[in-house]
Amino acid sequence: MPPPNPADYARFDDLLSPDERALRDKVRAFVDEEVRPLVPECYERGVFPAQLIPKLAALGVFDEHSPVEDGLIGHELERGDAGLRSFVSVHVHLAGSAIRFFGSDAQRTRYLPVMAAGDVAGAFSLTEPGHGSDPGTLETVARPVPGGYLLTGHKRWATNATIAGVTVVWARLAEAGTDAGEIRGFLVERDTPGFRPVPIEQKLSFRMSASSEIFLEDCFVPESQLLPGARGLVAPLSCLTEARYGIIWGAAGAAEACFEEALAYSLEREQFGRPIGGFQLTQEKLADMYAAVVQSKLLALHLGRLKERRALHHTAVSLGKRTNVRHAIFVARTARTILGARGVTSEAVSLRHAANLESELTYEGTDEVHALVLGRHLTGLDAFR
Ligand SMILES: Cc1cc2nc3c(=O)[nH]c(=O)nc-3n(C[C@H](O)[C@H](O)[C@H](O)COP(=O)(O)OP(=O)(O)OC[C@H]3O[C@@H](n4cnc5c(N)ncnc54)[C@H](O)[C@@H]3O)c2cc1C
Repeated sequence: MPPPNPADYARFDDLLSPDERALRDKVRAFVDEEVRPLVPECYERGVFPAQLIPKLAALGVFDEHSPVEDGLIGHELERGDAGLRSFVSVHVHLAGSAIRFFGSDAQRTRYLPVMAAGDVAGAFSLTEPGHGSDPGTLETVARPVPGGYLLTGHKRWATNATIAGVTVVWARLAEAGTDAGEIRGFLVERDTPGFRPVPIEQKLSFRMSASSEIFLEDCFVPESQLLPGARGLVAPLSCLTEARYGIIWGAAGAAEACFEEALAYSLEREQFGRPIGGFQLTQEKLADMYAAVVQSKLLALHLGRLKERRALHHTAVSLGKRTNVRHAIFVARTARTILGARGVTSEAVSLRHAANLESELTYEGTDEVHALVLGRHLTGLDAFR
């Protein structure tokens, strides 16, 4: 019998089909060859490498996939950097899902093919400076005028908005009428007068992601750009459930990258005349990290298989997002300690992943909000307000 692979992740690969493994390997090779070499400089400069968009399209990343395939893609992209996975997640699962689920035939025909080709990037703007965890109280308004709507408001934290060709903006209908006050989605194209995305630059996390503030100043959007099927907060929330599912896999990918970095370094770095991986304290860290990575991957795969059977409830997505981000933060920080001083430089990946994971703890529902979702599911009691 061959010796066990130290990082076979409890034979996780045995649970994948040959096609799933092949897709995973293809995306992994792309990330290793084309992405990893770019990341340190892009991260330090705080820019998203937009030159990768056509390559991601050619790789088929924007095409329709099964939930497990989608997850494996997210896992591999985040092994590179969370900013890359987040670009794809917002493009495909937030903006793309909004158009797929709620768009008219004309909107689907206009946007989905060019988005799949990578010619037009998508963004999704729900959050506002005063409305994060509680987006139901958002203040951006859409005032009906002849032929369309005038959007006015201030949005914040819209990933991709500075590089996107189309942004899904969520706003509240103003003025009289039976649907006044209802939250609706609008497809706003980049050059629309009154639409002004501005980069958020003072970030210590997600530096390789185009996070934007958006100012909407009497921005006229024709009636044809209103998403006809999206009515109320439930519409953006259903898109967010799609994207959160991706975080479950992405966090597992970040954790795996940190664990592998720490394991390799522990065998190469010597102190007191022996590899630091030979010390019991290091081995305990490696064992705990390995357990967290294996549990994260298995949970992601289990939830993915449920999603394939259309049996994935949103509370299970909350469970997965919260659990895997927590696991990944533990792994990234522990890996950083094994790397010693090298771990605080950009030669190593673990501290960058740890910094990114701080955003993942907060975005698409904070750790606390997902605890409240689970608490309500378990007890039937709503502790949100
Ligand atoms: C890198 C990054 C990318 C993002 N991308 C997007 C995007 O593409 N589109 C978009 O629309 N938004 C995006 N966001 C915004 C993100 O979704 C919000 O940051 C998130 O919803 C939390 O809102 P907040 O930051 O305003 O925090 P707040 O809601 O102000 O929360 C602050 C703290 O209060 C806690 N809290 C709030 N309410 C309760 C409660 N009822 N009980 C207990 N604790 C509570 C929170 O858990 C948190 O700890 C992004 C954010 C980041 C950091």
